Amino acid sequence: MVKSIRQYYGRLHELLHLLDACDPLIIHVDMDAFYASVEIRDNPDLAGKPVVVGGSPNGRGVVAAASYEARRFGVHSAMPASQVLRRCRQAIFIKPRMEHYASVSKKIREIFYRYTSLVEPLSLDEAFLDVSGCEKLFGSAKNIANKIRHDIRSELDLVASAGVAPNKYLAKVASDLDKPNGCVAIDEADVLDFLQPLSIKRIWGVGQKCAAKFESIGVRTIGDLRKFSVDQLRPMFGANAQHFWNLARGIDDRLVISDRVAKSISHETTFSHDITNREVLEAWSIELMGQVARRLRRHEIKGRTVQIKLRYSDFQTLTRAITLPEPTNISKSLINAANELIVRELQPNHSPIRLLGTGITNLTGRRMTQQTLFDQNENKKHSEIDKVTDKILSKFGNAAVRSAKTIEQKIRHQRDPNIHDGN
Ligand SMILES: [Mg+2]
Repeated sequence: MVKSIRQYYGRLHELLHLLDACDPLIIHVDMDAFYASVEIRDNPDLAGKPVVVGGSPNGRGVVAAASYEARRFGVHSAMPASQVLRRCRQAIFIKPRMEHYASVSKKIREIFYRYTSLVEPLSLDEAFLDVSGCEKLFGSAKNIANKIRHDIRSELDLVASAGVAPNKYLAKVASDLDKPNGCVAIDEADVLDFLQPLSIKRIWGVGQKCAAKFESIGVRTIGDLRKFSVDQLRPMFGANAQHFWNLARGIDDRLVISDRVAKSISHETTFSHDITNREVLEAWSIELMGQVARRLRRHEIKGRTVQIKLRYSDFQTLTRAITLPEPTNISKSLINAANELIVRELQPNHSPIRLLGTGITNLTGRRMTQQTLFDQNENKKHSEIDKVTDKILSKFGNAAVRSAKTIEQKIRHQRDPNIHDGN
């Protein structure tokens, strides 16, 4: 029995902690020598040749991409184009066609969306995908990564490498380890062993200068870095000390932020028999709007305008909307608004309803949302509750929460205890 608010939150956090044990799974997909590969694909005469996409060797441009044949001569991206010919006299220069690469990139992204909606593109040729909880549909995360690579290969005739890991940092490191055409997966249990021998330059944010600093204290590998505490690192690396300490242990809490912010999100249902009871409709609205709210939270977006759609038994259909003072993705706020619309619209003895829809428009991404001080504490409490519900649902599926159907039955039983519903 929970006796106090403090105890209540204690329980919530315990539960969150427990559920956090279900591993997040991130894939980092990185196209191999992307621009150069697209050029070679489009012009097979270039196959097997050192192709360099970028500025002219006579100008001041830099290499945007180099085929693997060019890389064998030491040509790499970001190298001044004027240096290329010194290393590789037979290099074939091609002017970048960015619009074309963008259209190919869009096709690659469409392949990602077959497997998850949580896609965060980093550039035209790489993206993070959050596939946590997608295993039941598509097999293990490594399987998903390989399916994606297969789709890209067979449909677009291009080659991608992938890294599969519990977080973004590890997935990105992994995708780079077996290029080209590689797929490296890291299990949670193997993270420390995996990182141990890797060069300190594999730590995100460690460039040449920083690597030299590490070298001066005898740190060459990530394993070496782990011998230092945050306090020991701080005098040399300041605010980055904690960041380096975390990455050396494979700790990275950043979420995959989807770029695909829809214009509206909605759910609707047609009832098996028309509904005349307003309370039953409200119960359905809780279920439907709950799903909408969960989708908002999964995409880390909020919405301001709540809509309902009602279709009467004579097929007359109407929509009603209400705009809230500020965007939210809290289930309770959205459900209250939807139910307020239902109450406003439905007179006593209204005609039977055959369809109910709930939705939200006027969407904004998390970073664009500014929270007012008003009701902040109240919101925080409900956010925590939503967080726990989301975790439970992602782990145990929809059966874990009471469905509208059971609420409907309960209401019917309360009204008439003699009803025995066979469903
Ligand atoms: Mg790439």
